[in-house]
Amino acid sequence: MTLPDTLIYQRFAFCPSCGAASESIPQTPVFNCSSCGIEMHFSLVTSAAALITDSQGRLLMVKRKKDPRKGTLGVPGGFVSPGESLDTALQREVGEEVNLELESWRYLGGWPNLYTYKNVTYATTDIYFEAQARDIDALQLCADEVADVVFADPISIDREQLAFRSLVQAIDAYLAIRGS
Ligand SMILES: [Zn+2]
Repeated sequence: MTLPDTLIYQRFAFCPSCGAASESIPQTPVFNCSSCGIEMHFSLVTSAAALITDSQGRLLMVKRKKDPRKGTLGVPGGFVSPGESLDTALQREVGEEVNLELESWRYLGGWPNLYTYKNVTYATTDIYFEAQARDIDALQLCADEVADVVFADPISIDREQLAFRSLVQAIDAYLAIRGS
């Protein structure tokens, strides 16, 4: 993966602790201040997302209401909060976006992604789960985050319409497991 020159640590022109100007723009996810000695590490951001299918095997997809990638198709999910477990984040995000309670879920895979928001790019690890909803009829979109909800055949879905490359990899992994 080619990294852009706008990753968050490359924006640290000044030390956030003592305010000294950086001698050079950090090129690795570590910020060292030669003035006060502070060392900061920029970890990957983790997200959890669910591939939920209905009784006909169609994949529940959400049309993104906000940038990045506004208007493209994603699946319910989002960033893990500090102190939160991956599983709790998955359940919370699915509940917040489409009002579904998960009955069970199984690790599918995790892939790298880049997430640009307000001109700053974060390197992420997107972790996908194959999941079953307790009652898919309870589906209700969250108007703040989701523009629309669609069920799509994961085989024929247009890959160009998918929000993130990690999602393309997740769908491919899902289809490989399903044997189609
Ligand atoms: Zn400093």
